Amino acid sequence: MADEEEPEKCGKCSKEIDGGLSVGCEGKCSEWFHLKCAELTVKEYNVIKGCKRLKWFCDICYESEVIKRTNDEVIKEIKQLKDQISRLEEKVSAIKVDDNDNVKYSNAGAEEIKQRSEAAIIISAKNEDINKHTSIQNDLKGAIKPQELRIGVNNMKTTGAGKVKISCEKKTDILKLKSEIESKLGSKYDISEVKTRKPKIKIVGINENMDKDELKNTIIKQNELVIRSIRSGYYSNV
Ligand SMILES: [Zn+2]
Ligand SMILES: [Zn+2]
Repeated sequence: MADEEEPEKCGKCSKEIDGGLSVGCEGKCSEWFHLKCAELTVKEYNVIKGCKRLKWFCDICYESEVIKRTNDEVIKEIKQLKDQISRLEEKVSAIKVDDNDNVKYSNAGAEEIKQRSEAAIIISAKNEDINKHTSIQNDLKGAIKPQELRIGVNNMKTTGAGKVKISCEKKTDILKLKSEIESKLGSKYDISEVKTRKPKIKIVGINENMDKDELKNTIIKQNELVIRSIRSGYYSNV
């Protein structure tokens, strides 16, 4: 807006700029305008001049550079929101609630995740005379009440000579169970934790058109159970 750069003609009326107040457009045209042609008051002119961060645009440049740019940003933002919504919809439609009110995730593009988190202990008799499975199971059934402990037991089965394996879905449940058995039947039985297998990550339904984020989200979605188990420390001993 320096005076020496003033061109001779006004960008609006094409008449000479005769030394009166004028304002330069900060848009692509870079033309100068009579204050009157720019529809600015002297007060407004002084505010613009006094503040480096204030820029004045002529009508044409304002339309093409300011409004259009804002519109482009809004359109881009709407597009991103739409993408987010459709990802959320996909996620919500993949949520299933089973009979025990457990929330499970599945993916229409992938077969349901078969891998279940499971923790287990093996109870074995200290005295070799007690090698009948039935007596171990009877002892356990008599001393341990899962409902009172508020734990969920998945399975109890015999394994090898004089051994019984009990599995729970939650690691915390199996730890509760372990300490309960130790305190009630510890003199008779040894209780050891079963090491869990390494989680497998599954990847299906990907294609070369996916960008990095899509790929990452797909893998995360298909392996939600495994990833949640890892995050919760379930596999920390592996
Ligand atoms: Zn003019
Ligand atoms: Zn302009």
